[in-house]
Amino acid sequence: MKHRRRLWRSPSLNVCEAILAKAEWLVQDGRVKRISEDKWLVAGIKNRHIVRRGATGFLYCNCKGFQACGTCSHVVAVFIKENGRVKAEAEA
Ligand SMILES: [Zn+2]
Repeated sequence: MKHRRRLWRSPSLNVCEAILAKAEWLVQDGRVKRISEDKWLVAGIKNRHIVRRGATGFLYCNCKGFQACGTCSHVVAVFIKENGRVKAEAEA
């Protein structure tokens, strides 16, 4: 996976917190819309992304971040919208 590293290269960036913070903003700003039983439209700053739920319940996104890292703010935003807030250690 070395060729993918440049995306999250900065050691000072807490990737998990950054994704959580953006995901909460997406939900609070009303940018997550359910368009069918297993499909959501998430309106990001530049692009709209389709998040799908697979047969196992796992969420998939069509953005580059998800393809590189296996997760992204869009799938987390859908998770928060459907399940309530994710409890982060930083909030304790
Ligand atoms: Zn995404």
